[in-house]
Amino acid sequence: MPSCVRFFQAKFGVLAVVIAAMLASTSLLGETQAAAANVPAPGEDIVLHGVITAEKLGKHEMLPFTVPAGIERMTVELISPGFQKGMYLTAGLFDPQRYRGEGRSVFTVSTVDATGPYLPGPIVPGTWRLAIGYNFVAANAKGEFTVKIHLSKQLDLEHYKVIRSKAGWYKGDLHSHTGLTDAMCKSQSGADVPCPPSKLFEAAAKQKLDFLAVTDHNTAATFNEIMQAQLYYDQMLLIGGEEITTVKGHANVWGTEGFLDYRVAESGFTANDLFDQAHKLHALVSINHSYWPYDGRCPGCGWGWEQTDFSKLDAIEIINGYHEHGSWFTPPPGNGVPFWEQQLARGLRPTGVGGGDEHRAGEQLALHDGVGIPTTVVYARELSQPAILEGIKAGHVFVQVTGPDGTPLYLSAGSAIMGDAIVAEAGKRVWFKMTTQEFGQAKLRLLVDGIAVNDLPAVQQSTAAEVNCLYDWLSDGKRHWVRAELDSADGDPITLTNPIYVNWGQ
Ligand SMILES: [Zn+2]
Repeated sequence: MPSCVRFFQAKFGVLAVVIAAMLASTSLLGETQAAAANVPAPGEDIVLHGVITAEKLGKHEMLPFTVPAGIERMTVELISPGFQKGMYLTAGLFDPQRYRGEGRSVFTVSTVDATGPYLPGPIVPGTWRLAIGYNFVAANAKGEFTVKIHLSKQLDLEHYKVIRSKAGWYKGDLHSHTGLTDAMCKSQSGADVPCPPSKLFEAAAKQKLDFLAVTDHNTAATFNEIMQAQLYYDQMLLIGGEEITTVKGHANVWGTEGFLDYRVAESGFTANDLFDQAHKLHALVSINHSYWPYDGRCPGCGWGWEQTDFSKLDAIEIINGYHEHGSWFTPPPGNGVPFWEQQLARGLRPTGVGGGDEHRAGEQLALHDGVGIPTTVVYARELSQPAILEGIKAGHVFVQVTGPDGTPLYLSAGSAIMGDAIVAEAGKRVWFKMTTQEFGQAKLRLLVDGIAVNDLPAVQQSTAAEVNCLYDWLSDGKRHWVRAELDSADGDPITLTNPIYVNWGQ
């Protein structure tokens, strides 16, 4: 199983290159003559030390260091006594060709993204320089500073922010767009213009989503926007992704900033190669709105690559946006369940997910292509990017078609929850438990291999907070998938769970 969990141990060990004292021979305005010493040994961070004295006030000290080839990301930390102790320093960054920015004491820079004031761009090999600015040194103040420079051969972050540290069910949207590609909204004067990413983030926050994956078409440009916005949205996880958009199908990729080739053809670079390249980068892949046409009615929208190896898929978008009866592409009412069930019937286990496919930053809420409509609810060990992707890969997911305020539906069998596999030999009884809320005229269904059981008990264990329905199922020892669904009186899905897989190892 391709892991969606990144390995966080630093590729470069704890620092060992300590270059102290050398700065004693450094000119305050020029560069140290000891540049050759600031070359990291393989696997080591670069560490620079310096002395702060009042005489240095207002000056900039240029500290060179060598960046080898093959580096994708640089993370710098300047540790100094600080303003409170009368010593405030700044860190400017110059690569071998250009100035990259100044203004933070802890920052990261990569090809794709960079902390606030710093410019993203290639980490070119050669001599880089850090400009230590002595912005404030009080009279008679004296101290030391340390700079740690961590060089990573991995473009993706090694450490992801944890928004919430407790395990639970988290609500989000896995498919959305900004005006960096084709999301449009009204300008101040009412013109249709590319919609700034901030409008999307704000719309998602208004929906009280726990996470939002931003999946612009064939570009990593969104990642830098996310890096800046995540500081403000400290209760909503922003996940960078791309919707790989080909002439015969769209697929979301979540979990890497690396280059993803979109130039799929029947021969040459195939859809299977597309999936493989995403997995090599530890990302997850999901086919979007597979059931749409891909001809002139909606060029490229549906999935039409004939040689697709569906076993390479991690997920399938079973609900895209919200489509009423009689609207475009219905029936079925805007859902990709049959396509998903075809894969389940073949013994595959792609996780069914939803995607709002937001293109209007919430202007059309509700119920068309709204951010969070549908809402994908994921059980994760914490609210962080690796944990959410882990939960999706595990199938610990249900989809609320009408959005974050929709009706939840949990499926379990003993300690197994949706997405898990159980073993039940022939003749064994399994209790499947569906837990939801009061659902009025809606219909609760339990489906075995896609077919609703016709003897679901009317007797339910209810409390004010939840409604439970238990179904006593007799195993025949064969392979099955069992999922639950809450449907409206008209038969449209309201909430869908992922299956519990029975005897799947056989
Ligand atoms: Zn899309």
